[in-house]
Amino acid sequence: MENAALRCASCASEVVADVTSHDVITIEGDHVPFRRHTDYVMCSCLSSYRVSDLRQVVAHVEARMRSNAAS
Ligand SMILES: [Zn+2]
Repeated sequence: MENAALRCASCASEVVADVTSHDVITIEGDHVPFRRHTDYVMCSCLSSYRVSDLRQVVAHVEARMRSNAAS
């Protein structure tokens, strides 16, 4: 079952478990609040991802899952 976990484009490690409108849920399950569009998360391989970009990825995944469920 595919979930919304976000993988690093460089090393394919999971970077965050989920991103909501107001926080990031880490692989360890911690909720980290983000307030600014400039906030970043960093992978263990040192690739960094802007949180606002990750939110867009999650929104696309969730939209696709909803359309799959409807059809
Ligand atoms: Zn990585």
